[in-house]
Amino acid sequence: MHAIDLILKKRDGGELTTEEIQFLVAGAAGESIPPEQLSAWLMAAFLRGLSIRELNALTTAMRYSGEVFDHTGLGRATVDKHSTGGVGDSTSFLVAPIAAAAGVAVPMISGRALGHTGGTLDKLETIPGYRTQLSLAEARRVLDLCGATMIGQTKNLVPADRVLYDLRDRTGSVESPWLISASIMSKKLAESLNGLVLDVKTGSGAFLKDPAISRLLAALMVDIGERAGTPTVALLTSMDQPLGRFAGNWLEIWEAVDLLANRWHPMDEDLRELSLMLAGWMIYLGGKAGTPAEGRDIAETNLIDGKALDVFLRMVEAQGGDTRVFDDPGSFHRPKFRREFCAPRSGYLARMDCAKIGWAVQRLGAGRERAGEVVTAHAGVEMRAKLGTRVRAGQPLFTLFADDEALFAEPERLLTEAVEIADQPAPVPPLVAQIITAENKNQFLESPPRP
Ligand code: URA
Repeated sequence: MHAIDLILKKRDGGELTTEEIQFLVAGAAGESIPPEQLSAWLMAAFLRGLSIRELNALTTAMRYSGEVFDHTGLGRATVDKHSTGGVGDSTSFLVAPIAAAAGVAVPMISGRALGHTGGTLDKLETIPGYRTQLSLAEARRVLDLCGATMIGQTKNLVPADRVLYDLRDRTGSVESPWLISASIMSKKLAESLNGLVLDVKTGSGAFLKDPAISRLLAALMVDIGERAGTPTVALLTSMDQPLGRFAGNWLEIWEAVDLLANRWHPMDEDLRELSLMLAGWMIYLGGKAGTPAEGRDIAETNLIDGKALDVFLRMVEAQGGDTRVFDDPGSFHRPKFRREFCAPRSGYLARMDCAKIGWAVQRLGAGRERAGEVVTAHAGVEMRAKLGTRVRAGQPLFTLFADDEALFAEPERLLTEAVEIADQPAPVPPLVAQIITAENKNQFLESPPRP
């Protein structure tokens, strides 16, 4: 086989065979196909889209391009949750211990900050001593001990995605529902799951801003999961404003631990509710509840009675973290500088450009400009008002935290552009707009919208 033939075939609208796709993926993982040819094929796939058969062949070949989790003898169903990327989204730190407390195992493999969105690994690494780079054997020991583990992608897990994602990132082919779904699902299926819950973000803070394309992405991922024998559900959720009270690395760990310890803040309502819904679906797919609604009730009980907090603390300890910081997480938040961003006029907080808020958080030091850079633990923002609130001129809308005073200027400009105050309140998008399951996915796949 020759890579050039497969590029021409896709470019001209043809459908590749499973063997041809396996050849490309093996060439990516083994670095036997040069990057310019892989990039050209990716761009052809970005522009032409993939058939359901091609998409499944691509995902399967990527999934098995390296090692996969082996849960033999675990004695619990394995379930995970994956989000397509958000701002202030600390649901992972809640759903993993909540679901584990209900008796399912959660082998969660997460990523770093990407674009304007935060990264679960960057947040976890603000816990002193916490190790995210565990081998699969070490992760298995934590899973046996605690029922949940939260780690980074190992070097050998889905190596083809590492190569292809890096090329997409550098050659303008990230925002394809087909390539995103193969990338995400190959990594999730390599976790060898019995169930998967997807949190597909929509709205101004989502990577794919068109709701029709978000629905297509969700349906493609549900379809891939179901064909692979992993029951999968996708919740389309609002990213029209940051979730909860905080966006930043330590800030989100603090917020999640406060919620696990039942120390609520009124700004946390959306984060708490979404976490309970996602965990409810995980508990249901893991066979520990008869319906997702019953799963949500079990989740809430495990949250209120402290079982989920106990799992989280044991998991942090098992991965080398110092849990003494959780005795008073607020006092561990020590940014060098803080500044308030106030409402320029009175009215209703009508709209937010949530991606711009995400960029403000990253530029305060929570994210990185280049791969490998160190992020600032205490940088970020505190939300002081949510969409739909009536605000007065001069009232604080955000508190900004940074370790360098010079870093405030750009985020302040971004927040000025991001916030719209109007004379009349605008409708606030629902937290969960739609749920896509095996039963209703096909209606979104029949005549897919073009990105
Ligand atoms: N996250 C991934 O893992 N892959 C993508 O392609 C996009 C987001």
